[in-house]
Amino acid sequence: MENKVKAGIFGVCIGDALGVPVEFKSRDYLKRFPVINMQEFGSHQQPKGTWSDDSSLTFCLAEELTKGYDLEKIGQSFVKWVKYGHWTAHGRLFDIGGTTRETIGRLIKGESARFSGNIFEEDNGNGSLMRILPLAFYLKDEENPEKLYQTVKEVSTITHGHFRSVFACLIYVIFAIQLIKNKNKTEAYTSMQEIVLEYAEKQWFSLSEIELFQRILKNDISNYSEDKIASGGYVLHSLEASLWCFLNSDCYSEAVLKAVNLGEDTDTTAAITGGLAGIYYGFENIPKEWIDVLVRKDDIEVLCDKLNDKLLK
Ligand SMILES: [Mg+2]
Repeated sequence: MENKVKAGIFGVCIGDALGVPVEFKSRDYLKRFPVINMQEFGSHQQPKGTWSDDSSLTFCLAEELTKGYDLEKIGQSFVKWVKYGHWTAHGRLFDIGGTTRETIGRLIKGESARFSGNIFEEDNGNGSLMRILPLAFYLKDEENPEKLYQTVKEVSTITHGHFRSVFACLIYVIFAIQLIKNKNKTEAYTSMQEIVLEYAEKQWFSLSEIELFQRILKNDISNYSEDKIASGGYVLHSLEASLWCFLNSDCYSEAVLKAVNLGEDTDTTAAITGGLAGIYYGFENIPKEWIDVLVRKDDIEVLCDKLNDKLLK
């Protein structure tokens, strides 16, 4: 069986590494100087192929899932990342979001991963969405949407516990599962909308919250023009932007470069896009020269194989 785990996880970290050197650059700047290849230095003064927090936390989650699902252990692996540079590109952390720092700080002080997350509306950055992809592999055969929702909620809430962040992660995971099941783009998008809306209608979710996702769930996000797609650090914008980039591209490189060149939170938009594009187009479609320069690519490959083996059993 083709290793979709490897395609998705490399998809995340190559998108991340393409975006790291131009994080915070505006869309106007990137229109003049578009990223077309791996670059070095720039925003974080890192060598070529360096990935950031998005990938680190994705690897932490993937690594814990190779041993089975244990929420507290997932939380503790995030602690190891902050305290000891576990799953960093060069042994130390150079990029971390405010909510993530604050909530992992609670874990360090001994709080349970069930209660460490922030729950307020202002805590809706893209910090849980950027690391959620491994759950799609873990949950790919789960038929019960309630179980899907509860698991996604728990893992998001280690850091990001507001409904909006959890719901964005749910949409992303369900969409990724449809791609893992080999559906084409249109089928995967329509199935995701049906599954999510059918589930949400039966819950006591806030209608004003669900309404915020209308462009994704009731309309087709791919039909909006680029100037209607924002690409900062807000979770809803990151979800819209990544779906938009994926649905409006024809190969892996086009999808992630489109995401990077939207500007602002370039690494995260490209990481989230890259996970979907990797799964859909396959590992072979990721440019080899990008894989070759990726920092710790052998370690990442071992991790992907381990998770793939575990989930096949
Ligand atoms: Mg980052």
